[in-house]
Amino acid sequence: MAHVLVTGGTGFLASHTIARLLTAEHTVTTTVRSLARRSDVERMLTVAGAPHAHGVSCVAADLTSDRGWDRAVAGADYVLHIASPFPAARPKHEDDVIVPARDGALRVLRAAREAGVRRTVLTSSFAAVGYGHGRTGRTFTEDDWTRTDGPGVSAYIKSKAVAERAAWDFVEREGDGLELTAVNPVGIFGPVLGPDYSASIRIVHAMLTGGMRTAPPIWTNTVDVRDAADLHLRAMTAPEAAGQRYLALAGEPVSFQHIALTLRERLGEAAAKAPTRSAPAWLLRLLATVRPPLRETVPQLGVVRRASHAKARRELDWVPRSNEDAVVATAESLVRLGLLSG
Ligand code: NAP
Repeated sequence: MAHVLVTGGTGFLASHTIARLLTAEHTVTTTVRSLARRSDVERMLTVAGAPHAHGVSCVAADLTSDRGWDRAVAGADYVLHIASPFPAARPKHEDDVIVPARDGALRVLRAAREAGVRRTVLTSSFAAVGYGHGRTGRTFTEDDWTRTDGPGVSAYIKSKAVAERAAWDFVEREGDGLELTAVNPVGIFGPVLGPDYSASIRIVHAMLTGGMRTAPPIWTNTVDVRDAADLHLRAMTAPEAAGQRYLALAGEPVSFQHIALTLRERLGEAAAKAPTRSAPAWLLRLLATVRPPLRETVPQLGVVRRASHAKARRELDWVPRSNEDAVVATAESLVRLGLLSG
């Protein structure tokens, strides 16, 4: 049993990870930007079926400020640094996400070093691995890094690559024995625990509510949030995980059209609004010229990024659910929690 600090307890992945830590009988402190969110955290943990949901300590801390981090990390054996800006829309300026992601990671690592924490697991992303390489048929592994000056690299993608680089540089130069492990998930799906769900859930939400009438020719990789949380726990304690990165994904990339068909097949009437047709790329490029929110998706049209989870499977015995089970679990939870209006 250990004491673990999980940053960003209001988040989708963090709440599932806390639930798993509590189930494994660890004690947990989490950070929230505002203590007013404590009850939301407890509610999500209860929905997740976590024991002792009310026993989690909450500390107020923001990635953009030094305040609170020393208190949050006090007594922690491990830190799971999961919080990072994950905006649903393009930010006004790229520094709005890059600076909190990078400086926040450094704040957390500095506090962890000062408190004598054994290991920090950083939630990075496939965004730090497989972007900016243009069209390529290769299979990305943990040896790859996103080219932040390459094509199709959004502010969010850049923020994850820059923050992970900064974290590795920090432990190498001034970590003073602090161990670091990175987990690099692809698009995270699986059951939501409440109305404040992650931007990655919007795809399934839009398909179920009729907000996506035709499926754009976009491919994504998926991982179930419960499996991503499980990998964080394995990465936290496995001796061989120190100094390593681990990609977290279910398997082969899937198209939005495949996701829509899977939802229709497995949910029946509840997925009656999921698109049956695919929109051509040329039409979406044209639409993007007049609808700015579509512009972020243009570089992703028709691009298939393959990656491998062989390292996590081999070294950490990690066995994820399938793509289909992950997206169906998202859809079922949105239905179950009544989150399909609006
Ligand atoms: P999420 O539900 O939006 O969670 C993001 C968390 O970060 C929230 O708790 C949020 O707090 C917190 N946060 C954002 N800016 C902050 C700031 N300035 N100070 C303190 N906390 C801040 O998204 P998620 O999917 O769980 O993402 C968790 C992590 O996984 C992130 O590092 C993300 O980059 C990574 N990731 C996600 C995906 C995916 O598809 N979802 C894929 C790969 C990697 P508030 O609730 O106060 O906003």
